[in-house]
Amino acid sequence: MSKRVDTLSKQAFERAKKVIPGGVNSPVRAYKSVGLTPVYVERGAGSSIYDIDGNRYIDYILSWGPLIAGHAHPKVVEALQETAAKGTSFGAPTELETLMAELVVERVPSVDIVRMVNSGTEATMSALRLARGYTKRSKILKFEGSYHGHADSLLIKAGSGVATLGLPDSPGVPQSVAENTITVPYNDLESVKLAFERYGEELACVIVEPIAGNMGVVPPLPGFLEGLREMTKQYGSLLIFDEVMTGFRVDYHCAQGKFGITPDLTCFGKVIGGGLPVGAYGGRRDIMEQIAPSGPIYQAGTLSGNPLAMAAGYTTLQLMTPEAYAQLEAKAARLQQGFEDNAKKYGVPLTINRVGSMVCPFFTDQQVINFETAKTSNLSYFTSYFGHMLDQGVSVPPSQFEGLFLSIVHSDEDIEHTIAAQGYALSQL
Ligand code: PMP
Repeated sequence: MSKRVDTLSKQAFERAKKVIPGGVNSPVRAYKSVGLTPVYVERGAGSSIYDIDGNRYIDYILSWGPLIAGHAHPKVVEALQETAAKGTSFGAPTELETLMAELVVERVPSVDIVRMVNSGTEATMSALRLARGYTKRSKILKFEGSYHGHADSLLIKAGSGVATLGLPDSPGVPQSVAENTITVPYNDLESVKLAFERYGEELACVIVEPIAGNMGVVPPLPGFLEGLREMTKQYGSLLIFDEVMTGFRVDYHCAQGKFGITPDLTCFGKVIGGGLPVGAYGGRRDIMEQIAPSGPIYQAGTLSGNPLAMAAGYTTLQLMTPEAYAQLEAKAARLQQGFEDNAKKYGVPLTINRVGSMVCPFFTDQQVINFETAKTSNLSYFTSYFGHMLDQGVSVPPSQFEGLFLSIVHSDEDIEHTIAAQGYALSQL
């Protein structure tokens, strides 16, 4: 297997490192954990990206999830061009924002009313402030290995269990903020119960990815989300679903529709913007109306509800019919089956977690139900697999703890090529 040429990407990365921290504007793009040079993208089309050295890759990163309709979908590009020709930002309301909000309210069971922001981080940060303002409580509960953006309160992970809660995970997060974040293992209702017994009257909310997507892909065990719903109700805390990754990706009605759980607030990002910078948070009317200007809790944004972002998101969501989700499910199931068959053939320990078009092959023979079990994966196997996939024209996330995403334009040939590439990668371990 010949190695790719990446001369121009290497040069581009060296140049960038002189003027951008680590050469990138978001850390995971630097490919640090796999020890390779990042692929410098020249353009994307459909299921593929093309780098500046002229290599083509079938893309399973898809901008980390937003591009569920693939790169440069003609309808999305057309909507953007039409909208841009009329002006790119006004700082005044447009009807496009209402159209978008109506669509979200119609599709997402728990959302009566929704506010647009510019990123997933802004969505979760704003939802936390709202939960704290509404309940007049300070503490929050989140899960170890979950990522909810980079707001101070959310950059915290636990050591082991409820005993070692509230340590800052990033320098720069004040201890006084970290103390208000309680962290317990995902899928562990017993720890949640202990946390509520200890801090119950102080907890403003539980924030949870209804399918964890930032420790690889980890679905909720039966009863987990139901348990969170019951406990938050019992203690007067709000339940926030962070659907930044799962929203409009796993189901027409999002993860909450798929599992039949009604959170109080929901955060969105990624797919909702169709590749442009968008986030949103929404939920119960009485809570959401506490936000300015209808209520006293402040949150604002110069570019929020931006016309281009609304046009890309709205057009993308129009493409995502219930039939489109069924097709995604079938493609992803075939990918999973092919990967599993290869693992058996080459005797490689592989546990694949998948929900719809979120797929994560963990290099472990253990069941992966939380961050601890995700960490049993063999990371040197992962690194080798990752390099072989790139060399064969397949771009998967450069981390064991991130899932692959599929789009509606990945073809059967793309999937079969990917399965063959993974087979070769496993044969080389
Ligand atoms: N929540 C979840 C579940 C996410 O996956 C992410 C991004 N990976 C975020 C929040 C933060 O979103 P953004 O990067 O747009 O700020």
